[in-house]
Amino acid sequence: MLRVCDLIVIGGGLVGAAISWGAHALGASVILLDEGDDAYRAARGNFGLVWVQSKGDGVAPYALWTRRSAACWPALAAAIQGTVGIEPALHQPGGLAFCLSDEEFYYRDDMLRRMQRESGDIGTRMVHREELRTMVSGLGDEVTGASFCPIDGHANPSYLLRGLHQALGSAYHPRKSVERIDATVQDFTVHAAGVSYVAPKLVIAAGLGSRNLAPTVGLKVPVVPQQGQIVITERLRKLLDFPTHTLRQTDEGTVMLGDSIEDAGFDTTTRVRTLRTIVDRNMRVFPALREASVTRAWAALRVMSPDGLPIYDQSIRYPGAFSATCHSGVTLAGAHALALAPAIMNGALPDALAAFTAKRFLGNLTS
Ligand SMILES: Cc1cc2nc3c(=O)[nH]c(=O)nc-3n(C[C@H](O)[C@H](O)[C@H](O)COP(=O)(O)OP(=O)(O)OC[C@H]3O[C@@H](n4cnc5c(N)ncnc54)[C@H](O)[C@@H]3O)c2cc1C
Repeated sequence: MLRVCDLIVIGGGLVGAAISWGAHALGASVILLDEGDDAYRAARGNFGLVWVQSKGDGVAPYALWTRRSAACWPALAAAIQGTVGIEPALHQPGGLAFCLSDEEFYYRDDMLRRMQRESGDIGTRMVHREELRTMVSGLGDEVTGASFCPIDGHANPSYLLRGLHQALGSAYHPRKSVERIDATVQDFTVHAAGVSYVAPKLVIAAGLGSRNLAPTVGLKVPVVPQQGQIVITERLRKLLDFPTHTLRQTDEGTVMLGDSIEDAGFDTTTRVRTLRTIVDRNMRVFPALREASVTRAWAALRVMSPDGLPIYDQSIRYPGAFSATCHSGVTLAGAHALALAPAIMNGALPDALAAFTAKRFLGNLTS
């Protein structure tokens, strides 16, 4: 069987689904091929922050791209809710990163000043202990202050993913693991589960699977897994109004604790030592958490490039083939849907994304 369309996207995680949705919303005929719900998927196990304040320290294009995405998010959330009735629970009240010592406070202060010089002022500032206690109650004595960014936020990543998939309707093809790509300078034929799909444009957004698929079309996506673990409490009374980089309270009242970073290959088992570190730090911030019961914990794999920045490229050998990957697929969903997808459909990546080509790794890639 042969299916023809304008754009094939490989990978239905948050990156591929947002790009597919953006192209679909422009009227393109899109086919999104995805392994489905039982595959490795960072989109399935993440924390849900739409986080700006620390993104792009030393790399202004990343700071600007992240800010643009935060600005695109409300339109994306409204469009998903308007078309399929799924509310991605977006809240952008500003975000806090708590400091537990003077060293942490001055470290973040330096970072914010540096980022302000490099990428402009978005109102991010340090909040001292006394002011912080007027914003958040129940803080532990060790909290010395926090950094605050007025455009940080959070969302429900599962609703976002489901909303994107549902809005794509029959364009979303689960249980279609791509086995082969045949490329010519005119078009791409992608083979998956006995069906061949043909299009003049192709996006490889297969998360950790991109590494092996990309070279077929002259692209490099040298990503590796980076494990993160998350702890969920029972539903609690309102703890705070702001998301933070290690803790956020969902609309349902559960509290998510996270932010671990470990190199564990493709291992997705949790470790008590890591979970304890996550919980200990958050209990120092909110001593009342000592009374809360933990209901769940999981580990999931981030999709990490060698320098932690996104990779966006178009193939020189096979124009029309693009790659897209990042480790902040929730945060960047707005820009992927409303800025990257239109650029791909126009056939060229914008200059603002030039810094994210994988050519930056040439010479220091070992495999
Ligand atoms: C613990 C943790 C916390 C995180 N917290 C945040 C956060 O707070 N904010 C934020 O912005 N981001 C966060 N992230 C990152 C975010 O989840 C990822 O950036 C995002 O999910 C990456 O999406 P992706 O589409 O690139 O990859 P994935 O979600 O991994 O999806 C890739 C998809 O490609 C499919 N695929 C692979 N190979 C093939 C193939 N051959 N054929 C067809 N399909 C294929 C897979 O089945 C999968 O569905 C977190 C991640 C983790 C692990």
